[in-house]
Amino acid sequence: MRKPFVAGNWKLNTDSRSSVELAKSVAASLSGRVAGQISVAVIPPFVYLQSVVRAVSSSGVAVGAQDVYFEQKGAFTGEISPAMLKDVGCTYVLCGHSERRHVIGETDELVGRKLAASISGGLLPVLCVGELLEERDAGQTEQVVARHLRTGVSGLSAEKMSAVTIAYEPVWAIGTGRTATPQQAQEVHAFIRNWLAEAYDKTLAEEIRVLYGGSVKADNARALMQQQDVDGLLVGGASLKADEFVRIIEAAL
Ligand code: PEP
Repeated sequence: MRKPFVAGNWKLNTDSRSSVELAKSVAASLSGRVAGQISVAVIPPFVYLQSVVRAVSSSGVAVGAQDVYFEQKGAFTGEISPAMLKDVGCTYVLCGHSERRHVIGETDELVGRKLAASISGGLLPVLCVGELLEERDAGQTEQVVARHLRTGVSGLSAEKMSAVTIAYEPVWAIGTGRTATPQQAQEVHAFIRNWLAEAYDKTLAEEIRVLYGGSVKADNARALMQQQDVDGLLVGGASLKADEFVRIIEAAL
């Protein structure tokens, strides 16, 4: 049985006060209720990580970072290492979010290096994969997802792979209000699980959590979670309101 996992990606939002308020509010609403049943994480901007870690301490809510660099230290102005994230109390890190791939211009190869460095640094990476609308329309969804998987986890041993969560996030559904239907999500999630079984083995493929992301709201979360291969949700906009995010978590239980 895969434990459900719901993560809230705050992107370039909140400030020093509202990030702490949001984190405290999520932690207080969940306190004691979800322990052991579900993994929950909030993913604030880098500069608020430390205060958010303090705000959720001992609530069971984990904290993740939105990005990371693959080098440990040195002349890499503006970058943040896995060790730095670990040092401030991060558990998870997003690798290859579509906004980093398509807005910032990260390559598949860079995403793979970040993911490998995150695992070596003791973080649990969430590898984001997913197609553009034109790729879906051209019938290339599986091809794109397979490429993101292959390059994202390239060369990882099965042991290291067990630290990874996959998030299927069709780019056309992110921040657009246009969610994939539960059936569309299930089809790609099943494809991802088969890919994992072929690249590794069936047991590992059954253990790895595959999240769906793309305009998840409290009113569509349950139908998505009812799909056999949807193990959790990566939530953007709707994670910025504590009550909505908590309703999504409740729907995932
Ligand atoms: C995301 O940022 O990963 C995301 C899925 O955003 P939204 O829920 O706003 O579509």
